[in-house]
Amino acid sequence: MRAVVLKGPDDFSVQEVDTPIIGDGDLLIKMGKAAICGTDLRILNGTKTKGVRYPSIIGHEICGDIFKIGKNVSDFSIGEKVAIANVIPCNSCRCCLNDQENACLNRKAIGYEFDGGFAEYVLIPEIAIKSGNVVKLPNYVSYEEGALIEPLSCCIRGLKNAGTKFNDCVLVVGAGPIGLMHIQLSKIAGAKKVIVSEPNKMRREKALKLGADIVVDPTKEDLSKIILKETNNIGADIIIMAIGVPAIVNSTLKLCRKGGTVNLFAGFAGTGESKIEVNTIHYNEINVNGSTAYKRSDYLQAADMVITGKVHLKEIVTDVFKIDDFEKAYEICKSGTGLKVLIEP
Ligand SMILES: [Zn+2]
Ligand SMILES: [Zn+2]
Repeated sequence: MRAVVLKGPDDFSVQEVDTPIIGDGDLLIKMGKAAICGTDLRILNGTKTKGVRYPSIIGHEICGDIFKIGKNVSDFSIGEKVAIANVIPCNSCRCCLNDQENACLNRKAIGYEFDGGFAEYVLIPEIAIKSGNVVKLPNYVSYEEGALIEPLSCCIRGLKNAGTKFNDCVLVVGAGPIGLMHIQLSKIAGAKKVIVSEPNKMRREKALKLGADIVVDPTKEDLSKIILKETNNIGADIIIMAIGVPAIVNSTLKLCRKGGTVNLFAGFAGTGESKIEVNTIHYNEINVNGSTAYKRSDYLQAADMVITGKVHLKEIVTDVFKIDDFEKAYEICKSGTGLKVLIEP
């Protein structure tokens, strides 16, 4: 089969590899579409190496059809469309037992410990099937939407950590694919006003289309002034940082109201170090938290929202490339001209 093989940091190529041979408890999925995530880019360019195997096949936002079924696997049939929750928690570590399976200390994941979606076929190991990580989709859900259930579930986790509720004023910093999901989820959670800060015009327009009330170009407009004006001088209730730029963390903290919450959703670039004035947090009693991956309950909620048409994901897809054109897809991702870029066989 054709696959993108990661050989080392900043070293990958499309090549012919053996199609995985499944065991009695496994499934083989024919990949329909797999999306490229910001984390994949950091793995490909070598800035993220933790938990990455060489050589391996990455890609963790996957939707496809059941192609082969191990003889001990029941409840699935050939040709069924499925999406894959790639994170497999251990269910017994301190985090798992503390209702934080998304941060499992022994987590295994497809696209990391197990080969992932940037290939024609993906082996789904028994452990993932047994823990309910293979989710059936009706045929009207496209492969694109199916693949994007994974990042949507991460955003649902972020939203829950942020605690967005009825009548809140939410600032979403960055309107890439993740920011565009957060806008929609914030509205669904009851936010009365969603303000979006984004320098790219196409992304601002997309943000408006997907429910943002106000969009701001922070390179030309005074974001701080606009936030104060829109919130009766108190600041945003909730801020979601959906772009990992360490240099703007400090100024973003200052846009939060006293007692509000700032969720550092994005993975931050470089070493992730940022100089912040901690008294902003201290005197204003601001809650700052993070978000990593998702719980399977978040994934099931994300799948349900996609199945029932509550979120618009097709709007977020701008490019689809064949596996053999992976290099082009990678370049588009790096250029930032598109939004979500997907791969298909
Ligand atoms: Zn991802
Ligand atoms: Zn665990």
